[in-house]
Amino acid sequence: MIVVLKPNLPLEEVEKVVDEVRKLGYEPRPIHGKFQTVIAAIGDENAHQSLETLTSWPQVEHVHRVQKRYKLVSREVKKGKDTILKIHGQKIGNGQPLCFMAGPCSVESEEQLMATAKAVKAQGATFLRGGAFKPRTSPYEFQGLAKEGLKLLQLASKEYDLGIVTEVLSERDVDLVAEYADILQIGARNAQNFSLITEAARSGKPILLKRGMTMRIEEWLLAAEYILANGNPNVMLCERGIRTFETYTRNTLDLGAVAAVKKESHLPVIIDPSQGCGRADLVVELCKAAVALNADGLLIEVHPNPAEAWSDGQQQVDLKLYTKLVEELKPFISAVGRPS
Ligand code: PEP
Ligand code: MN
Repeated sequence: MIVVLKPNLPLEEVEKVVDEVRKLGYEPRPIHGKFQTVIAAIGDENAHQSLETLTSWPQVEHVHRVQKRYKLVSREVKKGKDTILKIHGQKIGNGQPLCFMAGPCSVESEEQLMATAKAVKAQGATFLRGGAFKPRTSPYEFQGLAKEGLKLLQLASKEYDLGIVTEVLSERDVDLVAEYADILQIGARNAQNFSLITEAARSGKPILLKRGMTMRIEEWLLAAEYILANGNPNVMLCERGIRTFETYTRNTLDLGAVAAVKKESHLPVIIDPSQGCGRADLVVELCKAAVALNADGLLIEVHPNPAEAWSDGQQQVDLKLYTKLVEELKPFISAVGRPS
C-alpha cells in the first residue's frame, strides 16, 4: 500500500506513521520528497490488516491500495485461461457454444411452462429459466408458486431435456431449490446478501450471480469471490442492467461492465437483456451486442402470451419473436467465430 503524508510534516511525525505501518505487519519504505513524504508499505494486503484506517490520522493525506481485493475470481490465478463449466452436459465459457437459457420470468402453470420449454428447446436452448420464488417490489404482487413451481420445472426439464436455472431467494430455501435446480440464480436484490451467497455456494450447485442494480464492478467480483472462497468454483457472472438516471429503459444494460469483467475475471459471463432493458422490442438488439462482446450465454425471458404474464409481461418475448431472435443472432454468432 502507499501512504501519502501531509506536506511539510516534521520528521518525528513521519516516524510515528512509519512505526504504525510496521506494527500493522508491513515493511515501511519512506520516500522523502521536497514537500511530502510517501511511505511504500511492502506486504501482502490480503494477509495483513488494512492500512486504510490510517486516513483518520492527522499526518496522513491518502492511502492507496496496490493489490486488488479479489484473488480467486481474477485472471491471474488461472494464468490467463478462462473457466469452462460443465452443467447438464453443456459446456459454458471460454469460447464454447453460446449458451441459451430461456423461459418465463415466473413459472405460472404447467401449460405455460411446457409450451415455453418446447419452443425454446426447438430453437436450441439448453437451459430453461423460470422463477418459482419471485422477488417482487410489492408484497401484493405474485410471489411465485414455490415448491409447486420447482416441480413444474422438473417436469419440463425431464420432458425436454433442459437444465434448470431458477432463483433462490432465501437461505431457508437453498436445500429445497438445490434439489431441483441445475443452476441457482442469485438475484440482483440479493447480490450482496453474503449469508445467502455463502449458503448457496456450500450447496455445491453452479451459481449464476446477477449484478445488483447499484453494484460496482469490484463489488460484483467480490460477491463472486465469496462463492469461490467457500469452495464452489462453478460461478457465472450475469449482467442484468443497473439503475441510472435513464427511464426510457427499465435498467441500463452495462455492456462496458461486461467487457471489464471479461478482462478481469476468468469466469463465464451471461447477459440478461430482458431485465436489462425491460422492453421486449429491444431484446434482440441487446442480444446481438452480447454476442459481439463474446458473452458466454444469454438469459432471456420468453412467455407464450406476455400480455397475460403474472410478472414482467412487458419484457418477455413471445414464442414467435424468440424464434426470430435466434435466427437473427446466427450471423452474429458466426461473425465472432463462435461454434454453434
Ligand atoms: C429474474 O430473472 O426474473 C429476476 C427477478 O432477475 P433480477 O434479479 O435480475 O431482477
Ligand atoms: Mn423477470
